[in-house]
Amino acid sequence: MSETDVKKVNDQHMEMDNFFTGGFTIRNPDSQTSPPGPCDTETSDPAVELEKIADELRKCCKCGLGETRTNAVPGEGNPNARIVFVGEAPGADEDAQGRPFVGRAGKLLDNIIAACDLQRTDVFICNILKCRPPGNRDPRPEEIISCLPYLQKQLELINPEVIIALGAHAARTLLKTKQPIGQLRGRFHEYYTSETATPIKLMPTYHPAYLLRNYSHDNRKKVWEDMKKVLAEL
Ligand code: URA
Repeated sequence: MSETDVKKVNDQHMEMDNFFTGGFTIRNPDSQTSPPGPCDTETSDPAVELEKIADELRKCCKCGLGETRTNAVPGEGNPNARIVFVGEAPGADEDAQGRPFVGRAGKLLDNIIAACDLQRTDVFICNILKCRPPGNRDPRPEEIISCLPYLQKQLELINPEVIIALGAHAARTLLKTKQPIGQLRGRFHEYYTSETATPIKLMPTYHPAYLLRNYSHDNRKKVWEDMKKVLAEL
């Protein structure tokens, strides 16, 4: 390896480390924080409609998780977001606060969002399941079936340019596939809010909690590259 190659590799490692610790920004010259966009229809304001869904969720008892949760976690962020992050399900911290991604995985997601030159308030963050499965077990199919219409409605209202599916559960549920996340990530897929709507680009990537458990150079590089593709798309 030449000296220039070694420098390149070193620089890339430094950039990537900073990406995950919050000290680096991928700049997209064309990107601005999203201006408030026009409402989809004359009659519905997405902010109002999203709040209605949140209210409904706080009372929801469609599956057993309604009995074990402390708080439902509807999701939060910009009703006109260009990017929506979809995780798996609330954990203990999220259940206690009623807010998505506020624990350790949330801190890493915050760094990833900041590295994209965005703030949490620019994007919308939510989950497949809106209530915590006890002991953070995997979501059960019947829970996903009960909860999915809420997420589908949220995505339809926000109508973002890109959905980032965090982890296998989010990616497989939204794409209706059983493929492993390792095969799904790294390229855009299409998510349809209805049969006639223009599809929304969906980028699957590793879940921040997976990344924390498997904090290898290779895994971090993959997430970093997935995010760069999203920003290039915007
Ligand atoms: N993991 C998730 O998938 N969602 C959260 O909100 C927090 C952790």
